[in-house]
Amino acid sequence: MKKKIANWGNYPVIESDEKAFSFTEDIQDYARQHEHFIARGNGRCYGDASLAPATLSTLKYDKIISFDENNGLFECQSGLTLDRILEVIVPKGWFLPVTPGTKFISVGGAVASDVHGKNHHIDGSFSSHILEMDIIGPAGEIITCSANEKKDLFWATCGGMGLTGIISRVKFDLKKIESSYIKQKQVKAKNLEEVIRLFDDYKDYTYSVAWIDCLKKGDKFGRSILILGEHAKKEELPENKKSNPLKLPAKKQIKFPFNLPSFVLNTFTVKVFNFLYYGKNFKREINNIVSYEPFFYPLDAILHWNRGYGKKGFIQYQFVIPLENKEGLIDILKKISDKGLGSFLAVLKVFGKQDDLISFPKEGYTLALDFPVRKGLFEFLDELDEIVLKNGGRLYMSKDARMKPVILINSYERLPEFLSIVKKYNPDSKFKSLQSERLCLTKSN
Ligand SMILES: Cc1cc2nc3c(=O)[nH]c(=O)nc-3n(C[C@H](O)[C@H](O)[C@H](O)COP(=O)(O)OP(=O)(O)OC[C@H]3O[C@@H](n4cnc5c(N)ncnc54)[C@H](O)[C@@H]3O)c2cc1C
Repeated sequence: MKKKIANWGNYPVIESDEKAFSFTEDIQDYARQHEHFIARGNGRCYGDASLAPATLSTLKYDKIISFDENNGLFECQSGLTLDRILEVIVPKGWFLPVTPGTKFISVGGAVASDVHGKNHHIDGSFSSHILEMDIIGPAGEIITCSANEKKDLFWATCGGMGLTGIISRVKFDLKKIESSYIKQKQVKAKNLEEVIRLFDDYKDYTYSVAWIDCLKKGDKFGRSILILGEHAKKEELPENKKSNPLKLPAKKQIKFPFNLPSFVLNTFTVKVFNFLYYGKNFKREINNIVSYEPFFYPLDAILHWNRGYGKKGFIQYQFVIPLENKEGLIDILKKISDKGLGSFLAVLKVFGKQDDLISFPKEGYTLALDFPVRKGLFEFLDELDEIVLKNGGRLYMSKDARMKPVILINSYERLPEFLSIVKKYNPDSKFKSLQSERLCLTKSN
């Protein structure tokens, strides 16, 4: 039966015939029998990457296959979500090697978007930690691949947005931890120039991210809070936490009750939010020990926070621009500030070196901004795309719902190679999404 589905940005919303299975054989049968569909995890990509008239949800396909507690190796079915993995591995002294800003994503989604975290400059993206994985192809066949075996399939699947097949099993390594706490440092920067300098000063920190106020002008343009972190060692914990250093955080969540009318989120409310947020951090530097939950997943505490953007939904615009072209970053922030198009969320990170086939990260500054869908937005984002392109940057497909094919073609240098591998493993475009059609990555009917 068809039902309405959307991803995290609630744009677009479509009708889809969604099926979910718990057994590998059923997924293989589905793949054999269906002409066109896309695999779907937890719908946390923002745009249209996991939307199609027919979708295969992996959320029931969520078993742990093995967990080697001595060597930190984890193997599971692709529908298992990161929040459930953390509940198993943290009490045993292990953590995810790379985690995005939400734990509510599936392992299949982590691979297909090749997700990055606050530690990209040190640990790379998720694909750097995969030992091997299985992909179900169009005829229901299972192909095992890794960085050494069927390399072409492996690299086209990492960041390949589900176009090479259904990721069914993934084996990856974990990070050893002594505690479930993070030694956090927050540093206030008075403007963009200062935060960029601070990123460099603190580049040896494993985790770093900055929240930026996009609406300030003049010498406060780009004022930010840089948040840095390291996994706390047992001896660094306060006395009251030492007896249970690997304690899981309490599950505290509040629900966003309904879609806010879109006028609620105007420049004024964003200014108030930014004032409260930056005002809260009144000292220039704060050092404390926090649980991993608020450090990595501050937004997960508010279930359905995406409803705050109203019924029309929103676009998360994330780009990366090479370090040497930071002027491009300034141009974009200036345009946003001039237009008064506020973004509650403006998150800046620095990526380290990466030169994969189709993965988003490459060395540079990456900025993510949220914009509610409204008249004139897409034209405005087209203008930003041109600045990104002119500065040698690219957009993150996992957040995208509106980019034009020409932007993708001119920004992902190895796109032709990727497309030839997709053609080899998905010759009839069985695996296709609204996004792959919009970006001309798959054959139209
Ligand atoms: C609050 C929030 C914060 C975020 N922060 C970050 C961040 O810091 N870094 C980052 O990189 N991303 C971030 N993201 C994006 C998110 O991590 C990715 O979009 C991720 O891919 C979502 O996974 P999912 O399980 O929800 O998959 P979906 O959203 O359902 O699908 C995403 C893509 O994966 C494909 N896919 C899913 N499962 C499979 C499978 N089994 N086989 C083949 N293809 C599959 C889909 O076809 C689609 O192309 C964030 C998202 C949110 C909502």
